[in-house]
Amino acid sequence: MRTRHFFRRFWPLTLNPWALAAIFLIAITGRVQAADYSGPLFDAHLHYNVEAWEGPHPLPDVLARMQRNGVQAVLANSRPNDGTKALAEAREQTQAAGVAVVPFIRLYRNRADYDNWFRDETIFTMVQTEFARGTAAGPYRGIGEFHLYDSANANGPVAKKLMQFAQKNQLAVLAHVDDRAIDLLLAHAPGTRLIWAHTGIGGTPVARVAELMARYPQLVGELSYRPGLTCEAGKLCPEWRALMLKHPTRFLIGSDTWVNQRWTQYDDLMQGYRRWLGDLPADVAQRIGWGNGAALFLSGKP
Ligand SMILES: [Zn+2]
Repeated sequence: MRTRHFFRRFWPLTLNPWALAAIFLIAITGRVQAADYSGPLFDAHLHYNVEAWEGPHPLPDVLARMQRNGVQAVLANSRPNDGTKALAEAREQTQAAGVAVVPFIRLYRNRADYDNWFRDETIFTMVQTEFARGTAAGPYRGIGEFHLYDSANANGPVAKKLMQFAQKNQLAVLAHVDDRAIDLLLAHAPGTRLIWAHTGIGGTPVARVAELMARYPQLVGELSYRPGLTCEAGKLCPEWRALMLKHPTRFLIGSDTWVNQRWTQYDDLMQGYRRWLGDLPADVAQRIGWGNGAALFLSGKP
């Protein structure tokens, strides 16, 4: 009796200092923080451009960045395609780093092609040649990333032919476009898997994203640079969280290493994804972080 009374009176002193610190933190932050997502990541928007591999980011550097961030697969598309081929050919190094390479055909040989590809027949020829050739990591799985700064150019003759070429050959398309161009591109080839790079980089309202997701079951949203995605402390904004819970199989994450600065930020970018993925139920976080990309491109590794 005497002993029980003693412990009842002094029980907080029996907790170790870490437990006391945790209680203090919960008291001052007001809630328990969800743990960051710690599973594998599928980087579904990766460029390995000439200025990276010729400059400060040779193959061992980029593979080390992927490996230390738990990135186990990359959707590679590079200007020019040589960067993707270098990744595809380095089988021994990519396997040692635990990284699967999913090659896409980039439409751009140089920066001038950004503004003209949708009407340039030589690009259509180049895509056909590349596709026929394939890569050391297997056949190309998609086309892109391509950009349309004016959505009307989705009706350009080569844009239309490329969409139909993708549909015929079961290639996915990675498109940096606005919401209007989604409708136009899919009208050319309704069966094509379209990965919407950035899911509306200009800030397409979430309601409009939801409408397109409902209309096109083959539409998938990649989330780099998406404005309004995260709110306080890097956590998902509520309307995005709700959309992901509604469509857990329809989103991907990506680094978009379009300039070398993005390679230097690679750790922070992946950590940022891990933070908001941790705000989702574990099965949804796993799908968006890894499983959706794996289901699309890595047979047998969902
Ligand atoms: Zn990009």
